Amino acid sequence: INTIPGALFLIENQHTNKECFRSTHKTTTFSELKENSLKAADGLLSLGIKSNDRVALLSKDRIENYELFFACAIAHAVLTPINWRLQPEEIAYIIEDCTAKIVFIEKDLFPAIVDVMNKLSQIEKIIVIGDKSNTLISTENYLHYEEWSQAVQTPSHNIQPFYEKEGAEQITRNYTTTDAVVQMYTSGTTGRPKGVVLAHYTFFDLLNTMKTEGDNWMGLNSHDSLLLSLPIFHIGGLWWAIQGFLAGAESCLMAFFNAPEAIKIIEQHTITKVALVPAMIQFILSEPNATPDKLRSVNGVLYGASPITPELLTKAKNLFNASFFQIYGMTETGNMAVCLRPEDHNLPHHPYISAAGRALPGVSIKVLDPTGNPLPPGKTGEIVIHSPSRMLGYWHNPEATDETLRDGWVYTGDAGYLDQDGYLYVCDRIKDMIIYAGENIYPAEIESVLADHPAVKECAIIGKPDNRWGEIVTAFIVLNDNTALKKRDVVTFLSGKIADFKIPKAIEYIDQLPRNASGKILKKNLRARYWQDKE
Ligand code: AMP
Ligand code: MG
Repeated sequence: INTIPGALFLIENQHTNKECFRSTHKTTTFSELKENSLKAADGLLSLGIKSNDRVALLSKDRIENYELFFACAIAHAVLTPINWRLQPEEIAYIIEDCTAKIVFIEKDLFPAIVDVMNKLSQIEKIIVIGDKSNTLISTENYLHYEEWSQAVQTPSHNIQPFYEKEGAEQITRNYTTTDAVVQMYTSGTTGRPKGVVLAHYTFFDLLNTMKTEGDNWMGLNSHDSLLLSLPIFHIGGLWWAIQGFLAGAESCLMAFFNAPEAIKIIEQHTITKVALVPAMIQFILSEPNATPDKLRSVNGVLYGASPITPELLTKAKNLFNASFFQIYGMTETGNMAVCLRPEDHNLPHHPYISAAGRALPGVSIKVLDPTGNPLPPGKTGEIVIHSPSRMLGYWHNPEATDETLRDGWVYTGDAGYLDQDGYLYVCDRIKDMIIYAGENIYPAEIESVLADHPAVKECAIIGKPDNRWGEIVTAFIVLNDNTALKKRDVVTFLSGKIADFKIPKAIEYIDQLPRNASGKILKKNLRARYWQDKE
């Protein structure tokens, strides 16, 4: 199988009444998931969804999100999940950019966003997910998720009867693995996020190739219980959830990550496999009740999305008695491309411990110098990756696509080197990006807003390495003459304009920004005092 609907029918057939997703509100079996997804697909068609239409989703993690992912796939639509921590204007930008006519919004998130949504004339229907009581919603175009899915009990578009009559074989032939199935937004160097369009194959190719080579990777199987603590609006989160589903495993989801709850779920539901970003590992470690005993059910830890220090890894290895897998990749490569396997984690002095891993089967890596020539082992340059899981391209942005995706190779904007044995070391970023607790932040988004403050003459944003968060957003500000600006004023000024997680946590006032001869700000110089060992 290599399409999402194909997988839904096949996996449901194998695991029928087994539990599939579990949240604090409810659980769903594989059969219920299929039934609800078919119903939701009919619902989408009855709202007039056409092939390739984008369907926006703004929700913390919950079971309906996965129903909608499968439903969009069945209806040949493309789910566009959006980071709910963004500000209303930032969310509106993404909805406008993807041209969604139908938007699913979780009830709790609705009040903050309703005014902005009412201004978007492209929206034909808003469907509100969440408990039905006290729904005070000030827009005419909305339906409640339950009313909507009940209304399609007599399917108007006959997906379900068709399936019952023709069977899974027949219906899966209607889908193509190279069709778009999800669109994830990633921040861009220019300050505006870009839609990364991913096809069905992103969820299948690597693992299928590994299987045919007898490589069992993490050994996910139907006896596993997964913790879903990464958000669905990043490829890592959705991809992990779908891998669990494909293995017939049970997955326990959390609305959003918090360490005490994660520990509780791991213990209560005897979680066997977790996927975490380094900042989450750090938060779990800081919990007084995080003991090896409480976490003993976990036998596999997948981690990645930002660099990890050997110190943190050592502590994590002492806490979890599990096999560790690091992955490196990006949304554009279709999640993981490189993996550091358990045998390379033998601490403390394993030679590969600071590597990100080796290319997965079917993946190739090159390291290029600034003129595009391949560099020999040991030499640092831009990491360029060829993966069968790579994106189709950026949505409506051929220039950006041509720049990042050349002859099937993804130019990562990360700097690193390969050793003689093919291990990849990620040492720095060429792209101007900060990773704060696993969230990517581009300085341009912050700089352009902060520069509007009357006291700010000019400013530059960098990431400062931080033990807890990975990196913290740090602003360098040059003030206009006879003005003053406290950190508190900066926070107040930016609040509501950009997402809270992008607001600088540290501020430094300087007399002038370092620039090169052509006037370009030398971020390298600003970073130097914090990143000495990396430059
Ligand atoms: P995203 O598109 O959000 O997945 O972000 C991809 C970026 O995260 C990469 O280009 C890297 O800069 C960073 N990244 C992902 N995995 C790792 C890792 N294992 N080690 C270091 N950086 C990573
Ligand atoms: Mg990331």
